[in-house]
Amino acid sequence: MSEHAQRKVLVVEDEEALAVALRDALVHGGCTVEVVADGALALDAIRAQQPDLIVLDLMLPGMSGLEILAALRAEGIRARVLIVTALADEEDLLRGFQAGADDYLTKPFSPRELLARVEAQFRRVEMDAAPPEMLDLPGGIQVDLARLEVHRDGKVIALTPREGDILKYLIRHRDHVVTRDDLLLDVWHYQSANVETRTVDIHIVGLRRKVEPDPAQPSLIQTVRGKGYRWHESA
Ligand code: CA
Repeated sequence: MSEHAQRKVLVVEDEEALAVALRDALVHGGCTVEVVADGALALDAIRAQQPDLIVLDLMLPGMSGLEILAALRAEGIRARVLIVTALADEEDLLRGFQAGADDYLTKPFSPRELLARVEAQFRRVEMDAAPPEMLDLPGGIQVDLARLEVHRDGKVIALTPREGDILKYLIRHRDHVVTRDDLLLDVWHYQSANVETRTVDIHIVGLRRKVEPDPAQPSLIQTVRGKGYRWHESA
């Protein structure tokens, strides 16, 4: 997988051996993975962890996969859901899709098949999250990401290509913490993030001056203490 920012996956699976196999394959594929084995606990875990993708077994103790799916969609949770099922029953799958599943895998499947499906879901997550070319920010600030221009207070301020890349990266991972290491690896393309550098922080300061309505009180590029930064636009 090309990007290092968290790809959070929650595996809901009660068969321990399969749960371990799923977790190992996903970790190997670059994901951050949590596992829950009980349907009734799954919803709490989903609410608490806000995964990007849920790998959901249908036959679970406590609450079935379909019930979980219906409940999370009813709450407006938009995480992608990949159903895993022993039943290749058309009716079950149909109900799964109607309840808001994005894709399914029939047991048994290989780690490779799993990762191919997961990768496809993340491509869609990233496409959905791709920033528009023109951003309307609070304070009447407009950012033209194609031309790398910020329009504010009747003036045009140029963004550097690096600032543009950072901004797009933060927005693509909106509402998720992006670490300095993520930025060094994915935006600067460092081979290793084991470098002592204030480069990221200095760029963030510069970017805030250009795009934040009040750069002294940043609201869009939030500092997450001890972790990194997060792009957040309040609704
Ligand atoms: Ca099961």
